[in-house]
Amino acid sequence: MADTKPPDGPPTPLGTAEELADVWTRFRGGAMVHCPADDGPLALAVDGAAGAYRFVCTNCGLASPWFEAGPLGMNVRWHLQPGVSGGVADE
Ligand SMILES: [Zn+2]
Repeated sequence: MADTKPPDGPPTPLGTAEELADVWTRFRGGAMVHCPADDGPLALAVDGAAGAYRFVCTNCGLASPWFEAGPLGMNVRWHLQPGVSGGVADE
């Protein structure tokens, strides 16, 4: 069966541009932002070379996808994501 998108493991927390934009907006507003998994504090990681950001939980290590946040809005940099373990070769 090929036409439906296969479930590649659990859904990624903070894995949509909408979620990231919401967290980013609150973060920039000075609010504490919290991990969707365990409610731990999220820290902002910056990749200066790529000009990208991501949120990482300082409690459990959960990380959002890399994203850019520019004047045009949220842009998730899917091509920067490392290979997801277990998501390959499910034939
Ligand atoms: Zn966490």
